[in-house]
Amino acid sequence: MKGKTCLITGATSGIGLVAAEELARRGAALILVGRDSGRAAAALDRIKSRVPAAQVALRIADLSRLAEIRRLAADLLANAGRIDVLVNNAGAFFDRHKLTEDGLERTFALNHMAYFLLTNLLLAKIREAAPARIVNVASAAHLGATIDFSDLTGRRDAKGWPAYRCSKLANILFTAELARRLEGSGVTANCLHPGFVATRFGDAGNTLATRAFLGLAKRVMAITPEEGARTIVHLVSAPEVAGVSGRYFVKSREAQPSPAAQDAVAARRLWEESARIAGIAG
Ligand code: NAD
Repeated sequence: MKGKTCLITGATSGIGLVAAEELARRGAALILVGRDSGRAAAALDRIKSRVPAAQVALRIADLSRLAEIRRLAADLLANAGRIDVLVNNAGAFFDRHKLTEDGLERTFALNHMAYFLLTNLLLAKIREAAPARIVNVASAAHLGATIDFSDLTGRRDAKGWPAYRCSKLANILFTAELARRLEGSGVTANCLHPGFVATRFGDAGNTLATRAFLGLAKRVMAITPEEGARTIVHLVSAPEVAGVSGRYFVKSREAQPSPAAQDAVAARRLWEESARIAGIAG
């Protein structure tokens, strides 16, 4: 990964942080995006202490806000030398319904719109770096979900698992349509399920009951962040996936997502509606 710059969102904890550290070990320069400056500084210190030669830059943005994504992208377009890899990883589960300042349900805003808008705003720069890779962290939680285009942004009452599962289905549909649009560009786009991982997932902003349930499930069933990060690192760095695009991976192997996740018409429609919401050309 020497000479490559990897931009990773949600890199201040969980699988994003572990993947960042491993990519630094392999020689990549990192740009870490975090929401909290204290946690971002701690992530930088941790990586530097374990990989002293690491080149790490930080950016702070709340990715559930479209204006913050635009500000982040403008900064990166102006100041980042190159972006060879984009890992869209920041995501969360929310058990209560809440709209963002953009009028979007917050799971949809953070888990889907941030991937969509940040990628689109940086795409010209990523294309310049080709061969380049975009990796979207999705989830097996998408299985059985469908996109409700009559309330795509979740204004009515979306929350909890239904909202989370839809957002992770959206990650896979977005990846497929992005890969189609990038055909022949030298930029690949793939997505993955990391496994059920013992991270801070679900810890922030949820009821005590949800945190207790997730905490117990993580203690009993979850894999470590080190194991969870492996498929990210594989898709970012493995030579054998250099020409592979539009695919879904589990345990570093290509897997079949649900039939709804393979619906090319839904993928195109999701792209067009997301572009309209973000106010960019579809
Ligand atoms: P985590 O909570 O430890 O990490 C999430 C990261 O996203 C953190 O760095 C957090 O700061 C960042 N983030 C959250 N809200 C943000 C915001 N508004 N703006 C900017 N950054 C924000 O959890 P994780 O398990 O490492 O999650 C990473 C990804 O993996 C998510 O997309 C999640 O949906 C996915 N995933 C996790 C699991 C699991 O079992 N943990 C399973 C499948 C998929």
